[in-house]
Amino acid sequence: LFGEVPQATPVAVFKLSNDFKEDPNPMKVNLGVGAYRTDEGQPWVLPVVKKVEKIIVADNSLNHEYLPILGLPEFRSSASKIALGEDSPAIQENRVGAVQCLGGTGALKMGAEFLRRWYNGNDNMKTPVYVSAPTWENHNAVFANAGFEDVRPYKYWDAEKRGLDLGGFLGDLETAPKHSIFVLHACAHNPTGTDPTHVEWMQVAEVMKRRKLFVFFDSAYQGFASGCLDKDAWAVRYFVTQGFEMFCAQSFSKNFGLYNERVGNLTIVARDADNVRRVLSQMEKIVRVTWSNPPSQGARLVAITLNTAELLAEWWGRTQDNVKTMADRVLLMRASLQAKLQALGTPGTWDHITQQIGMFSFTGLNPKQVEYMIKERSVYLMASGRINMCGLTTKNIDYVAESIHETVVN
Ligand code: PMP
Repeated sequence: LFGEVPQATPVAVFKLSNDFKEDPNPMKVNLGVGAYRTDEGQPWVLPVVKKVEKIIVADNSLNHEYLPILGLPEFRSSASKIALGEDSPAIQENRVGAVQCLGGTGALKMGAEFLRRWYNGNDNMKTPVYVSAPTWENHNAVFANAGFEDVRPYKYWDAEKRGLDLGGFLGDLETAPKHSIFVLHACAHNPTGTDPTHVEWMQVAEVMKRRKLFVFFDSAYQGFASGCLDKDAWAVRYFVTQGFEMFCAQSFSKNFGLYNERVGNLTIVARDADNVRRVLSQMEKIVRVTWSNPPSQGARLVAITLNTAELLAEWWGRTQDNVKTMADRVLLMRASLQAKLQALGTPGTWDHITQQIGMFSFTGLNPKQVEYMIKERSVYLMASGRINMCGLTTKNIDYVAESIHETVVN
């Protein structure tokens, strides 16, 4: 029965982690997988999460009954508030809905499935879906698997200047067929670490509005770009003020360190409350045939944190807090890596390491150089040259800088 099943190619980022595990070199460094690590190279359970876990265990009123199909109401509303802002006009006007999803991936999946069936009143197999070039590789597959036959890249990265290709981006918006769907990274673009400035976002919004293009934000790193949740949501909130009806897929994997709990939310901004009601009624149908009901633990952890003032301040206050601790460590590693490469006199400019933001840096190393780093130095990074800044520590950063230097001069 299964004799004809072809072997699928492994998921690149997980294959890299496996290769890393099997590498006997004691100096090995994993800069591949997109997860936060402490300066000891360990995963970090956020202190606020540990506190809330105790609250949940002590709460005798909780049980393991099914959640509603669309998820925990207090999670959905508080998650949408984090994206859109407490004082969002759309929330005040009652035209925001949400679906608790299995991570950011689940939120993208729900959004894609809905759009393919219902967007603009049609079945949309032929509607183009544009994803940035480059992008998180799963974007392509999630939309293709939802039935979209035409997933295309839009210009985003200018490799030569190691920055945003604004002209190319705006040009692709101008020529895209009306009602095309655009997946936009809300902040801390993966993999380039390069976001449009406010003025550039305004230009993007102007074209998208005029040309009636659909905005689908992917917000997987809120807090990681600047350390400030509000600043990182600027683009999403700006588009709301411009009157867009839109989706925003949120992941709490990174900013809560809840990778394996699968906590995500799809925020829906529609024209009015009646539209939201009908959209959610169809979302229920899609969830029902996909995972039927979402899991509760991660969503409850996030909801309790976001809805309790002291806990919220501990997760993300305005001074010292858990999100900022992570964001600051990334900034420190960026500055430190750049300084070390400059001190070594490594050929090329390395300013982009500190100019880029979020968890990743797009080093500019080409696939051959990446292969050298892995084979000769046991420093594991994605073939695109993307490195996870959190994989760097005060103990391995000299070795990584020397490895990059050796690779570049070789
Ligand atoms: N979007 C982007 C841009 C991502 O980088 C990721 C995680 N790597 C996701 C979505 C999915 O996040 P999650 O693990 O919560 O599904």
